[in-house]
Amino acid sequence: MSRKETAFITGITGQDGSYLAEFLLDKGYEVVGLTRRTTHQRFENIEHLAGKIILEFGDLMDPETIEHIVAEYKPSEVYNLAAQSVPADSWKHPMVTGEITALGTVRVLEALRKHKPDARFYQATSREIYGGVKQEVIDEQSPVFANNPYGIAKLYSHLMTLNYRDSYDMYTASGILFNHESPRRGLHFVTRKVTSAAAAIKLGITNPPLNERGRPLIESGKLRLGNLEAMRDWGYAKEYVVAMWMMLQQDRPEDYVIATNTMYSVQDLCQLAFGHVGLDWRDHVESDTRFMRPTEIEVQRGDYSKAQRQLGWEPKTSFPELVRLMVDADVERFKGGSFQTE
Ligand code: NAP
Repeated sequence: MSRKETAFITGITGQDGSYLAEFLLDKGYEVVGLTRRTTHQRFENIEHLAGKIILEFGDLMDPETIEHIVAEYKPSEVYNLAAQSVPADSWKHPMVTGEITALGTVRVLEALRKHKPDARFYQATSREIYGGVKQEVIDEQSPVFANNPYGIAKLYSHLMTLNYRDSYDMYTASGILFNHESPRRGLHFVTRKVTSAAAAIKLGITNPPLNERGRPLIESGKLRLGNLEAMRDWGYAKEYVVAMWMMLQQDRPEDYVIATNTMYSVQDLCQLAFGHVGLDWRDHVESDTRFMRPTEIEVQRGDYSKAQRQLGWEPKTSFPELVRLMVDADVERFKGGSFQTE
């Protein structure tokens, strides 16, 4: 890179934002991250980047702060990763999901249109835009049919991203990412619930972290989950952020499915995680209707062959390897006494 480019990341405190910031710093970018001003700041995913990144307070609900940041830093690349990102919570919070996950994207796009129209923009689209589509293998040409408030908000953002490309000739690209996980995944998500529960039970932890209902994740020795038969295409977040960057280095902006083209059930996840620490998952996991989604997404895996062909991207870490590395990280966290609680 001849001169230092500036990248602006919304959602920098999240799983993907923190990995992307690391990746872009390694590439020589100046990294500016948007973070919400809250009473109890939680920066565990980016603590190790202190002094290397610039943090600006702001909120996707507030267009003014976004515009000020864009006008001040004039970033050449913008990665819009911030969202109300928990599909299961979106039924309870449909309006805030719409405000952040749908309209928040337009606030960033508008800031760019006004202050830096030649910036390259990445939108974090989700496979949930295909929620109800009855087609096992999904690619960029598949029909969309989001079937939960989160997926519908993401679909709006996806189409608006395309619309700014077509209407204003801006470089806007969406990554249609299937589920991706890591030791930095939030505790609201099933993978982290399972890997942290396996670690906690193995180590005999008596004060486990809380679940989204404010109850201990493990009660009476049991982890309670929703549908154990739900199937997902799960990849490794650290590899997925590389694809985001690649999408913004192309001659023309396009949208890409990023996935592994494999599928595992929640039960497989439990078996792998508990098995890794020598436990039988059936002794420690129960299905509980309170954690079921009102509508489940269809069984789908992502065909990433366009990304492979045009970007040279492909997944490297298998799902069993990913589960093992997540369990190992949770064991270390508990041993070090620095467990992340929601
Ligand atoms: P994540 O860990 O939940 O991070 C979400 C980020 O959004 C956090 O930094 C959060 O900040 C921020 N945020 C939430 N509301 C905000 C607001 N009103 N204003 C500014 N920031 C706000 O999510 P992730 O797993 O890294 O995912 C990144 C993006 O990809 C999200 O848009 C997600 O929906 C999408 N996606 C994820 C997956 C996946 O499997 N991980 C798959 C497809 C798409 P706080 O720290 O302040 O809460």
